[in-house]
Amino acid sequence: MQRIGILGGTFDPVHFGHLRPAVEVRAALGFDQVRLIPARVSPLRDSPGASGADRLAMLRAAAEGEPDLVVDERELERPGPSYTIDTLESLAAEFPGARLYFIMGADAFASFERWYRWPEILTTAHLVVTTRPEAALTIPPAVAEAVTDDPAELERAAAGLIHAQGVTALDISATAIRRTAAAGGDLRYLMPEGARRYLEQHRLYSPESAARERARADGNRSAG
Ligand code: ATP
Repeated sequence: MQRIGILGGTFDPVHFGHLRPAVEVRAALGFDQVRLIPARVSPLRDSPGASGADRLAMLRAAAEGEPDLVVDERELERPGPSYTIDTLESLAAEFPGARLYFIMGADAFASFERWYRWPEILTTAHLVVTTRPEAALTIPPAVAEAVTDDPAELERAAAGLIHAQGVTALDISATAIRRTAAAGGDLRYLMPEGARRYLEQHRLYSPESAARERARADGNRSAG
């Protein structure tokens, strides 16, 4: 049986705080691969600072030569907000019989009950909640019964369980990276070199490119 980990996010830009948890969860739970899925529009967040094409290019550079990290474009290709349930249903159709594990940081999990069609997320996949510095593990009451400490439990059910997985604490955030980039600061050792080079070559998150992105996002909004 194939086991597929799924890490969704804005990846604006990708950094080691995304990639290290992905490889640690993969090793701990024996996934065949982790799919990194950038959102076109995250339903509960502001518009990204970089375009989908740039965020994708940085992810591709980050995952290059790593067969167990698969960059998956399905949310960028789908119009409208990037709802996780739509992504999971499309993965379930593409990989019949595979087990799906949706990975999210503790910060994202704290608002899980606000996610679109969240009960159906749990009928399609297991959730793996990773620890994150500055984010306490808060378990939304509606899903408390689904939480299991025992990873072996995840083997017994096809979906519907929530497992908290401790990962190496890396206090890196895309927000801090965007701020550092805007100020022309040093981004070494926060993110993979290929992604950093792309960011710097394209002057992403600089004041000029931030203005360009805002204009693009406004144009998209008025175009409906
Ligand atoms: P921002 O700073 O813009 O909020 P982010 O890196 O937190 O960016 P996403 O790119 O959407 O946001 O994150 C994707 C997933 O990775 C989320 O589930 C998030 O919780 C997790 N994540 C991000 N950074 C870390 C980190 N440093 N440690 C653990 N998990 C992280």
